[in-house]
Amino acid sequence: MNILLLGSGGREHALAWKMAASPLTDKLYCAPGNAGIARDAECVALDLADHSAVVAFCRNTGIDFVVVGPEAPLCAGIVDDLESAGIKAFGPTRDAARLEGSKGFTKDLSRANTIPTAAYQRFRAVAPAKAYLRKRGTPIVVKADGLAAGKGVVVAQDLAEAEAAVDMMFSGGLGEAGGEIVIEDFLDGEEASFFALCDGETAIALTTAQDHKRAYDGDKGPNTGGMGAYSPAPNIDATMSGRVMAEIIMPTLRAMKTMGCPYKGVLYAGLMITREGPKLIEYNARFGDPETQVLMLRLMSDLVPALLASRDGMLKSFDLRWYDDPALTVVMAAKGYPGQYARGTVIEGLDDAAKVEGVEIFHAGTKAVGGKILANGGRVLDVSAIGKTVSEARRRAYEAVSRIRWPEGFYRRDIGWRAVERETK
Ligand code: AMP
Repeated sequence: MNILLLGSGGREHALAWKMAASPLTDKLYCAPGNAGIARDAECVALDLADHSAVVAFCRNTGIDFVVVGPEAPLCAGIVDDLESAGIKAFGPTRDAARLEGSKGFTKDLSRANTIPTAAYQRFRAVAPAKAYLRKRGTPIVVKADGLAAGKGVVVAQDLAEAEAAVDMMFSGGLGEAGGEIVIEDFLDGEEASFFALCDGETAIALTTAQDHKRAYDGDKGPNTGGMGAYSPAPNIDATMSGRVMAEIIMPTLRAMKTMGCPYKGVLYAGLMITREGPKLIEYNARFGDPETQVLMLRLMSDLVPALLASRDGMLKSFDLRWYDDPALTVVMAAKGYPGQYARGTVIEGLDDAAKVEGVEIFHAGTKAVGGKILANGGRVLDVSAIGKTVSEARRRAYEAVSRIRWPEGFYRRDIGWRAVERETK
């Protein structure tokens, strides 16, 4: 098959790495890709917002299957446009991607189907939102309804902070995404990411992962897209996984099908494991980043037939096999991220770093210029490793990080601390 992967981050590099290894893949393209992805796929300069250009490329190149990485093209309906042009595509349609594109949509669906989630209300104006804040008390969580690139959630400790978030969102601080907001109760517990591959009717649980959202050690500093991750998540055992499937994932799939927008693709549930059990924080309509990097290291089965089965509605008798060994990834980001940062700084030592046993380096934001690898984004590298234990995977990943010479970069030194603590108890 000729396959086109859409996206340019570390998630896409991990997917490209895994798909390139499939015997089903004749030729793999990636648009727009990055310097690391170029090792596994031919990168093509396509604007993902220009759906007709993507369709034209597929027609001209004889693409058999398109795999969509990021949420923006999914929410903009790229799967609808490819499929109506007769090109098979992996991922949800625009209507199904509302599970990520509208927090209010997901909350309403959860309430209507008794899926456990925080109590909430939706608002379109400041005054009723603030009245609700005063009624509910703090801590409380204020969320922009739409896609806000990880910036749309404020966990407020006091009323002033919560009111400021409401004002910021309704005054256009997040653009269109904040035209409507959701205010919900604060959930106490430990977070986990849960991934299910869905075909509209059936879902199979992928393995679990936990990520570190804050920029600095000790889970301090601003929220980011994710500074590291490890898999499996130690707080989700087989029993908990069964509960998440039965109480959250399957009722969602049934509801989506009933509404006439069956969900196909990866459903990524952000969960809070509370004393009462798992609760849904939010859905994403795609693979997680950086969680995919550790998932792909642990996936023993071929990824391509699984993605095809999701698209074709054939997951019923499908099975995926995973290595028991845990995996961990350390994100190296440009200094200043998630705020202002410089592009174009030189990264050296990558070949030497990649020699560390069990290590795979995925590129999240790089470009190659004159034989040099340059930083080209906020999150730049995902230094990933597999090992017999989390501690071993972590030792290997940090050994590789220490061989990378990039003075303009930074990384957290404590990725996986909870899992390592559990392991060494
Ligand atoms: P989201 O973008 O919805 O995943 O939210 C970003 C982060 O905000 C989550 O990973 C949680 O750490 C936190 N968060 C969101 N909603 C809640 C909630 N109801 N209670 C506690 N923390 C939350």
